[in-house]
Amino acid sequence: IQSMIMNQVRTRIAPSPTGEDLHIGNLYTGLINWVMARKYEGKFIIRIEDTDRTRFVEGATEKILDSLKKFHIFYDEGPDIGGPYAPYYQSQRLSIYHEYAQKLIDSGHAEFAYYPKEGAGKKKDYTQAIESSESKDESGQSSPKSIEEMITRGDWVVRQIIPKNEKVIVHDLIRGDIEFDTNELSKQVLIKSDGYPTYHLGVVVDDYLMKISHIIRAEEWISSTPKHVLLYKAFGWELPIFAHLPILRNPDRSKLSKRKNPVWVSWYIDEGYLPQAVVNFLALLGWSHPEEKEIFSVDEFTAAFELKDIKPIGPVFDLTKLTWMNGIYIREVLSHEELQNALYVYDPTLKEIDGVLLKKLIEVAKTRIKTLKEFKLMIMPFLYPEERHLDKEQKELLDAMVMELQKISVWDQASISDVILQNFIQTKRVNFKALYMMLINTDKGLPLADTFAAIGKEKTLALFHE
Ligand code: GLU
Repeated sequence: IQSMIMNQVRTRIAPSPTGEDLHIGNLYTGLINWVMARKYEGKFIIRIEDTDRTRFVEGATEKILDSLKKFHIFYDEGPDIGGPYAPYYQSQRLSIYHEYAQKLIDSGHAEFAYYPKEGAGKKKDYTQAIESSESKDESGQSSPKSIEEMITRGDWVVRQIIPKNEKVIVHDLIRGDIEFDTNELSKQVLIKSDGYPTYHLGVVVDDYLMKISHIIRAEEWISSTPKHVLLYKAFGWELPIFAHLPILRNPDRSKLSKRKNPVWVSWYIDEGYLPQAVVNFLALLGWSHPEEKEIFSVDEFTAAFELKDIKPIGPVFDLTKLTWMNGIYIREVLSHEELQNALYVYDPTLKEIDGVLLKKLIEVAKTRIKTLKEFKLMIMPFLYPEERHLDKEQKELLDAMVMELQKISVWDQASISDVILQNFIQTKRVNFKALYMMLINTDKGLPLADTFAAIGKEKTLALFHE
């Protein structure tokens, strides 16, 4: 708290461009980091950790940045907008890591180690610790003198020297103090033989140089943190505040995974979830509103949120709850204009529908849909009827209905409903399911009388003709 008042709050997420898109877990971490920065009038930074060239996915960075914007999470510094600590791509900062790795070597906190390639074609896993302490290669040559020499020679790495028999305490704002025994920590590779840093060196150097005050990240990084703490100490740097967020879980409590839950954030956009609803839902994972509120804006969240109030127990990611919440946003939270805009963003082709007509359809549909996708699916058959194949009896029935509907002088829900009910449903000439089938090729949909009233007489009657 002290340092939060004295120094500027600077938070960050450091995604690796190794997947299709932004992971929903990273969106959660991003949200919390962003909210912390907003709350304390600080800055939120995006740094791209693209040093694992073997897992690099072309276009992933752009996708990640674009996805954050879609959820209205805006950053103050980042790879595409720059900032005072640019570059924000780790792959463009190699000389910085070399400089700091050299400092560690000079002060006895890191060393060169010979790490010969395994069988041809075999991918070398540098993230695994290497314990062999060879200081000569097979031809008897001893350690390189510099990182440049190391890179030219190949097969050498820089690794961290871990002190023996020491305790490292990680102070975690959410979990309290976590104690580690240095004898259990592996000698971490810091610079790989190709000159790229590993995550551990990159993250420490950059968080320090970029003046990150709070490192808020997922629980899975806790076990790496003592190695980072040792590096901060080796450099003589003041430690940032650490907070490890609980990892999101599937309903069966296993770690959130592709097989059980959609993990890429574009899925949520494509399915018609509102960014506001997703953010509200994520806010409630691991945190609850002091007044037990379930529906609140991001501003309200920012005001009420305290990092220390996050519960460390893995919250269950319940899609059903998100869908319910999305329905509430559609029905109650968004104004008509906001909903219409959300629909236009969701599917720009909806702009082709006359504004007055769309407004009426929104009114009819909004209490019956939980996603924007459902809206589109429900209105389309009424506006752009598909081809249907009706038998003679069905055709006669629809013709009879047209005759009755045509007689209506004031085209409103009540009169339309009367005609359908009195002449056809109550006299058992047809039931609703069958009527829906004949009109829109599916056995249920938006309430007919309301929808007919909304789309007008002409469009309605057209629907009754094959
Ligand atoms: N590059 C790491 C990731 O992909 C960053 C972890 C951290 O925030 O320190 O999540």
